[in-house]
Amino acid sequence: MTTDPKHNQQLSETSADLVARGQRYYVPNYKPREMILDRGEGARVWDLDGKDYIDFGAGIAVCSLGHQDPDLLKALETQARKLWHTSNIFFTAPPIELCEALVKASCFGKRAYLCNSGAEANEAAIKLVRKYAADAGRPPEKRNILSFNGSFHGRTLATVTLTAQPKYQQGFEPLPGGFTYCPTFNDIAAFDAAMNDSICAVFVEPVQGEGGVMPAAPGFLQHVHAACEKFGALLVIDEIQAGMGRTGSLFAHCQDGVIPDVVTLAKALGGGLPIGAMVVGNKAAETFQFGSHGSTFGGNPVMAAVALAAVKKLSNQQLLTQVGEKGEWLREKLREINTRLNLFADIRGRGLMIGAELRPELHGKANDFSEAARKAGVLSLVAGPNVLRFVPPLTITQDEMREGLQRLESALAAV
Ligand SMILES: *Cc1c(COP(=O)(O)O)cnc(C)c1O
Repeated sequence: MTTDPKHNQQLSETSADLVARGQRYYVPNYKPREMILDRGEGARVWDLDGKDYIDFGAGIAVCSLGHQDPDLLKALETQARKLWHTSNIFFTAPPIELCEALVKASCFGKRAYLCNSGAEANEAAIKLVRKYAADAGRPPEKRNILSFNGSFHGRTLATVTLTAQPKYQQGFEPLPGGFTYCPTFNDIAAFDAAMNDSICAVFVEPVQGEGGVMPAAPGFLQHVHAACEKFGALLVIDEIQAGMGRTGSLFAHCQDGVIPDVVTLAKALGGGLPIGAMVVGNKAAETFQFGSHGSTFGGNPVMAAVALAAVKKLSNQQLLTQVGEKGEWLREKLREINTRLNLFADIRGRGLMIGAELRPELHGKANDFSEAARKAGVLSLVAGPNVLRFVPPLTITQDEMREGLQRLESALAAV
């Protein structure tokens, strides 16, 4: 039920040509949808041919303040006209202010380290927990890192090894050593069986994102935290996707009632620009010393200035309360759609991080549904082959949500 007559039109010659050139010149590790996105405003984006889309994907949970946020634009322009890059041999103001803001906004943080992506934030955390264990006199065989089946922590060689999903690892062996896996997320018995004194750190997402939008069960992270204390392991919470307001609080783990030792951030942190961060609590705050780790671009003043503006806006309590309300409303509407179409076995999530799992007989088809929605004017994501994922800008309006749902339902009904 789309109103824009262009929705079903063919790509223009220019768009088709650009798509073909992208397909020809990119290393073929991506398979972008066959259109060219051109501009955005709020929770809406337009392609080169003028067709508009309601953005329920936000560039993979990145553009949490929507597109063209005026405060982010102002921060970008102001800093871009002053100084672009200095390296970490010199201080500039924006990364100092950003680290201070992250430490002060968290309930546990003492220091912060800035980098350029989620994988880099986790890579820093991997090195940090290993060094913490080494400094404590643990031999290398007692510096294992535990993560959960279905997790996603990044694509570098170490973070893809931390990512407990074989499909991301296959073909890249030999993988780095010292990583072990808990075979089931949210399963206390399985975790207790996997946890022992050879583990120096546990990495966990408060809501598994790529693994199917699976929130930690009530009490699960508290149990993991207690076991970490018992075995002298550090608790690292990967909030790269669930953090920065996505679930209705600035830091997602605050809803789980745990005090982590390290939290990693990226995605929404820069409002759409590439930046990552590792926030470190008391225990390991002095573990990295001069020369331990570094990054040429990390804390780049332009990225940091925009991220600082983003963190300020994402800390707004009214916005965070609305994330919870919008999320509940959206899940309710998806359930209503499902009473009519009967496609989903489960609709779940926290705040505006929502997953709709297809019924078993439709397994494997999430991408087909997402592509049909795209053609009807809604951008959505998948989380594995069976789950549709909705992570709209946190600032999305009621009207935008309604319009998106209408387009989504017509597309889902037609598949
Ligand atoms: C996206 C993601 C990462 C990796 O971030 P990149 O910026 O793509 O390297 C790590 N952990 C989680 C939970 C993520 O969602």
